[in-house]
Amino acid sequence: MRTLTKQILLIITIIIFASTIYGSDKPYVILISMDGFRWDYIYRGITPNLNKLKEEGVHALSLRPSFPTKTFPNHYSIVTGMYPESHGIIFNTFTNIFTGETYRIGDTISTRESKWYKGEAFWETANRHNIKTASFFWVGSEQNIDYKKPTYFYHYDSKISFIDRVDGVIKWLQLPENERPQFITLYFEEPDSKGHSFGPEAPETNTAIALVDSILGLLIDKLEKINMKDKVNIIIVSDHGMTEISEKRIVNIEEFLKGYNCKFYGMGTSIMIEPPQNKIDEVYQILKKNENHFRVYTKENIPGYYHFSKNPFILPIIAIADIGWQLVTNDYFKRPRTYTLKGDHGFEKDHTDMHGIFIAKGPAFKSGYKTGTLWNVDIYPLLCKIFNITPNNLIDGDINRIEFILK
Ligand code: AMP
Ligand code: ZN
Ligand code: ZN
Repeated sequence: MRTLTKQILLIITIIIFASTIYGSDKPYVILISMDGFRWDYIYRGITPNLNKLKEEGVHALSLRPSFPTKTFPNHYSIVTGMYPESHGIIFNTFTNIFTGETYRIGDTISTRESKWYKGEAFWETANRHNIKTASFFWVGSEQNIDYKKPTYFYHYDSKISFIDRVDGVIKWLQLPENERPQFITLYFEEPDSKGHSFGPEAPETNTAIALVDSILGLLIDKLEKINMKDKVNIIIVSDHGMTEISEKRIVNIEEFLKGYNCKFYGMGTSIMIEPPQNKIDEVYQILKKNENHFRVYTKENIPGYYHFSKNPFILPIIAIADIGWQLVTNDYFKRPRTYTLKGDHGFEKDHTDMHGIFIAKGPAFKSGYKTGTLWNVDIYPLLCKIFNITPNNLIDGDINRIEFILK
């Protein structure tokens, strides 16, 4: 009899142990990006689902992006814990000046090439630890080297509806447990798109804000239906904010540099400039003298807080527009303009208009907890902590600045 009791106890212990390892105690994270969702959009009274989540979980005052406050550099910073100068995606579009090859937003051949991506995305770290991962879009998730991709992913296609993306995530979470991804990214290109077209204060932008909020509500409802609502950690972030720009606030950088034969890369919130090798200082001094509505730095003297110098593709001079201003070259006036942008981002990361959102809720997070501004490079080590795995040692992020939001 005694032996039988012992055997039963042993079996129960094994079942409990197995269910802890293979079963319901596994962490799940859905990392959601609402592109260009400025930190203060949640105070407009049009986001009931975000506001509910913010009350129930962790809410940071804002999420500080990395410089430049553009989509590609920041999405990759969020999943790698590295500044753009370290992870390699220094702009949405940039050139390898040694080979002439260009990485370009919208050019899927270049954006899928692993050679540009110097970071280790969280899905790669997780896969190494036998954790399945999935991405319904994220910058860097479609690379041409297999081990640098999530277990499951889709090629970016803005025409796939937001509802279909949510359904895709729900399908992944219904896979048998040994196939089910535990880390999933989900991306929406709003309210960034309307923010650019109409400006951050426009009613059209408010409609886009309300839309992504309702999509979040849909996701939560569907999680409840599959009995995953309380098991999943939801982390909502944005890559940057948005500020109003105007045709009246434009500086033509090239005007100051007639006859200097400079090459210009980029336009708008910042421009990188490559003067002839023996003219770098002269060109810098001329721009410095005319530093009105923008700031100019050399690769060597750009302040450390930009974290924007130690990368071979950063050019000798960078000019950064003051918030709300735009830097252009002569090209700008030659091109036919069919529409005018009303909002933009890419400015200095410390300007609050450039800050995004951070809201997180789930079993790993404190409840009803408010904190100050977080850094987006700290999200990668946070994910490692939730999954109890060691971060790679290349990162710029710091777990000490963020781990207090965990239970
Ligand atoms: P930005 O110019 O910085 O505002 O970039 C925003 C745009 O980036 C969005 O409208 C999307 O079209 C695009 N985008 C975002 N994620 C991806 C991705 N994973 N692959 C390709 N394009 C993307
Ligand atoms: Zn963006
Ligand atoms: Zn944008």
